[in-house]
Amino acid sequence: MSDLTDERSMLEHPSRRNFLGMGSVALATAALTGLTANAQTQTSTKTAEHDHSSSDPGQENKALLALNPNSNNPPPTDHGDIVPLWYSFDLVKKRVEEGGWTHEVTERVLPSSKDIAGVNMRLTAGSYREMHWHTADEWAYVLYGKARVTVMEPDGNMFIGDVEEGDLWIFPAGHPHSIQGLGPDGTEFLLVFNQGAFSEDGTMLLSEWIAHTPPEVLAKNTGLDASVFSKTPGAPLYIFPGKEPGSLEQDKTEIGGQQVAAKSEYTFRLKTMEPTRSSKGGSLRIVDSHNFPVSKHIAAALVILKPGGMRELHWHPQASEWQFYIAGKGRMTVFFPVANARTMDFNANDVGYVPNNAAHYIENTGYTDLVFLETFASEEFQDVSLNQWLRRVPSEMLKAHLNIDKELALKIPADKLGVI
Ligand code: MN
Ligand code: MN
Repeated sequence: MSDLTDERSMLEHPSRRNFLGMGSVALATAALTGLTANAQTQTSTKTAEHDHSSSDPGQENKALLALNPNSNNPPPTDHGDIVPLWYSFDLVKKRVEEGGWTHEVTERVLPSSKDIAGVNMRLTAGSYREMHWHTADEWAYVLYGKARVTVMEPDGNMFIGDVEEGDLWIFPAGHPHSIQGLGPDGTEFLLVFNQGAFSEDGTMLLSEWIAHTPPEVLAKNTGLDASVFSKTPGAPLYIFPGKEPGSLEQDKTEIGGQQVAAKSEYTFRLKTMEPTRSSKGGSLRIVDSHNFPVSKHIAAALVILKPGGMRELHWHPQASEWQFYIAGKGRMTVFFPVANARTMDFNANDVGYVPNNAAHYIENTGYTDLVFLETFASEEFQDVSLNQWLRRVPSEMLKAHLNIDKELALKIPADKLGVI
């Protein structure tokens, strides 16, 4: 039964593409490619292309089809099925508060992602994400605008810093922190938590703790009169408007200056750092505990692929991968035993998932740069390159496995380029 289904989806491939409004040259190329590939695996494909097999007289969501051509009409090399690999922030509800909003892609909607959950949040200028803490580490990438963040270490030392687009921060688990949007138009950012089931709705909020503690206990603890606590606002505050703060220097001085300043940096300028690897195809900027020591449990890479560029065939030996697509269009095929391969398309604001050790590539299929983040619940970024592997085994071994002669094998890049 499953063989039949597979065969049918392969048969559908070439002519279903007709419905997608591809240019005639692109269409001819796609059809030819399809024919060649299919000829080796599926002799009946050629027939199917010329008969009625792949017609779809029923309903189609044309907007979705146009965004996801590979997901709907997989390349003939796809086979079987794999865990869910795709979700989008544009499918999850926003929690809108005065001062901003938040929404999240967690294990609840992407059940395969057990190690990481993501949150996308907006704060208008001056607005706060309430002082809070939680059980997961929080790694963040600023997508827009500017923000001021504070975090206190358990020893009482304080970090306060400003971030802007392309910067990141880390708040280790249990460290109390805050975020405030700065002018002129606040901020928007992506949060990554090293727990698949994490929810932004389940954090420890200052206002709720105060609201659920007897006033006489608060009075005893703070030395203030109990009546003070009858004037505190209702809980939860969560996201709420505020006044834009003064300069960073003013804030630092007010909280006690160098005397109480944390020794570690909790923010990092990722987008402006020198690429870790780059080629004509694009660049890869890696951030993990080696160059950002406080990031002990989350590693990441910012990937920019030029049109036609590709994140090379690889896998990660240390963790599953959770991706956030920032700009452009791309496709990814994930291979996982036994003989399962699934290709899906990704657009800005989509989330991608790759199981631990599963082989994959990401290809820019658009006309502009494809920009995305790879994140891992791990101390160190690691990837294994297919090209390097092919080049570092004895040539006889390669010949025996793939029938590639030594002379040709030498043309394969010997270094891990990251992007091709
Ligand atoms: Mn937080
Ligand atoms: Mn990867």
